[in-house]
Amino acid sequence: MRPCKFVAPVVDPAKLNEYSFIIDFPPTGHRTRGRKMGHLIFDKRDWNFILNEQLDVSRLLKFKAFEDYDTDVFEQVVSEGIKFAVERIAPVNPLGDEAGCTVEGGFVKVPEAYHPVYKELKQAGWIGMIHSPEFGGQGIPLTVAAPVGEAQSAASQAFAMYGGLTHSAGHLIEAFGTEKLRQLFVEKMYTGEWGGTMCLTEPNAGSEVGDLRSKASDLGDGTWQIQGQKIFISGGDSDLTSNTVHLYLARCEGDPAGTRGISLFVVPRHWVNDDGSIGEFNNVSVVGIEEKLGIHGSATCQLSVGEDGPARGYLVGERGRGMSYMFQMMNEARIACGQQGSALANAAYQQALAYARDRVQGPDLQNPRAGSVAIINHPDVRRNLMFMKAYSEGTRALLARCSMWSDIAAHSDDEVEAGNAKLLLELATPIAKAYSTDKGFKVTELAMQVLGGYGYLKEYPIEQYMRDIKIASLYEGTNGIQALDLVGRKMRANGGQLFMTYMATLGEFLGRIGAVSELADIAKQLQSGQESLGKVAMWLQTTAGEDMKIAILQATPFLELFGDVMVGHMLCEQAVIAAERLAELTGGSLMTSAEQRENDAEIRFYAGKIGTARFFAHAVLQLARSKAFAMTNSSRAALNMVF
Ligand SMILES: Cc1cc2nc3c(=O)[nH]c(=O)nc-3n(C[C@H](O)[C@H](O)[C@H](O)COP(=O)(O)OP(=O)(O)OC[C@H]3O[C@@H](n4cnc5c(N)ncnc54)[C@H](O)[C@@H]3O)c2cc1C
Repeated sequence: MRPCKFVAPVVDPAKLNEYSFIIDFPPTGHRTRGRKMGHLIFDKRDWNFILNEQLDVSRLLKFKAFEDYDTDVFEQVVSEGIKFAVERIAPVNPLGDEAGCTVEGGFVKVPEAYHPVYKELKQAGWIGMIHSPEFGGQGIPLTVAAPVGEAQSAASQAFAMYGGLTHSAGHLIEAFGTEKLRQLFVEKMYTGEWGGTMCLTEPNAGSEVGDLRSKASDLGDGTWQIQGQKIFISGGDSDLTSNTVHLYLARCEGDPAGTRGISLFVVPRHWVNDDGSIGEFNNVSVVGIEEKLGIHGSATCQLSVGEDGPARGYLVGERGRGMSYMFQMMNEARIACGQQGSALANAAYQQALAYARDRVQGPDLQNPRAGSVAIINHPDVRRNLMFMKAYSEGTRALLARCSMWSDIAAHSDDEVEAGNAKLLLELATPIAKAYSTDKGFKVTELAMQVLGGYGYLKEYPIEQYMRDIKIASLYEGTNGIQALDLVGRKMRANGGQLFMTYMATLGEFLGRIGAVSELADIAKQLQSGQESLGKVAMWLQTTAGEDMKIAILQATPFLELFGDVMVGHMLCEQAVIAAERLAELTGGSLMTSAEQRENDAEIRFYAGKIGTARFFAHAVLQLARSKAFAMTNSSRAALNMVF
């Protein structure tokens, strides 16, 4: 029998949890065959757990910036944000994938279906929600906005990128621009009236941004003439907004080569007059848009600037310091990028879980005569689902923790608390970006495996998730570049202080989990992960001094090990909290029966958290020692090979 294609709910809501939204979207004839779904199952229960029990988001209320809020408002923001993503954004995901973007009359047209949803997104204030109310934002903590951001990416990665890049570009102007620039641009961007981009990449300058050739010459009237070509610019133009504001890297005439000589400019597509009105075309021309594997609804533009006539820009901050400013946007974008990985992993996991419950195929191993059973009963399918659950929920928790560190670093009056949070965020950023996007892709692949041949078909959302998420390991600095950042910069910064701060935090937690005897087997694997990390870190330090290349050869495996430990840490933290709650629910025992877990959603949830940590500890953390051995005893074969 051909399996159900989600035209009606196939999931028993009681089997999920009371907070999950299940939206079944009957497609409206955009396909001649089959029924591709704009359908998202979002696990809000897990987010409630992270925000309230793991991170305790109420502690943010003690910061001046958030004193006007309360936890009820936080809860309302999260619920409404998720609801909007699930009900309004998810349905346009397959439509945008199918329609893609086009260029007409020199300007980009995005998928038609995006327009009404973008209008609502803008009107509801979701785009600039984390930013200052002074410029039209809502001042919501990043931690509270994180589930909303995840839901938007899960609903449609391509659609969500327009608003995501825009508010982050606006934030760059707010942080480093003059008062005039702030007044002219920031509110228009936080409210989504105008779009925003980050313009780094050029044909000869990809990972090596310092090789860019865009030029800027001083016009002497407070503006600069800009000339150059940019490629791969996301949202480089669109008809969603009446203007597009490019945060553009170029070199001022006479400035040195390399990243040190780069400056940052605001280059609007249409000039903005001093009274804020839109003026003449500023000669930022769309030469073309890229045909690509996924995110078809996101316009990836080739831009020619100042080639068809003069293009002007405003300098942001000091001349020559553009790269250091751009790092603010890149660091925000790296966390957002990791969140895309986690978002699509979670979406794919939920789809695969629903499918595995529904699809009947083959008998149960221990009861072959009883006839065929749902595939969720087969051990190999369960193993795949467990990897998916652990990576999805673990990266979600890690990214949520990064948001919390970011809020604390920016708003805490306690210098030690703020300083530690800043160090931890700096260390975690390349790991959260690269690990979450690599695992995000892996989880979509596992989801396809769970769906069997049906997963490969366009009628199901998995193949789109898989195509869409691949880019996240490439843009915002490839994952290889993230590994170099971790090993070459973050591990060495401040004499290793970032790493030592994390090791101390982890050490403290190991003390906490060590006190829960029922979790001793899990704690042991996390401890071994910590020791392995320390061993490789030491090896990297000594080896880099003797033979830099052999050390750098292990940068990506080291980042992977670090990701295993950080995600393991987050899952173990969840297990400790779950153990306390479970003991309360059962009157003391952590041993629950299958029947209890079946009948009680809360017991099922908390027992599930312990089960996930246990699975991850044994299936992933247990390998830490051998991974460390392989790294510290690696061969030179890759370096010596004559290809
Ligand atoms: C869909 C899409 C959207 C994008 N959006 C934007 C955007 O909005 N703004 C923007 O500015 N750019 C954007 N980009 C560009 C993206 O950031 C770059 O593609 C990326 O930085 C890599 O550059 P590259 O493609 O030139 O690859 P290369 O730099 O040529 O890298 C190729 C390979 O070599 C490795 N490599 C390169 N240098 C080193 C090194 N020094 N050490 C070790 N390994 C190295 C890389 O890890 C990679 O595996 C986008 C790209 C795409 C495809």
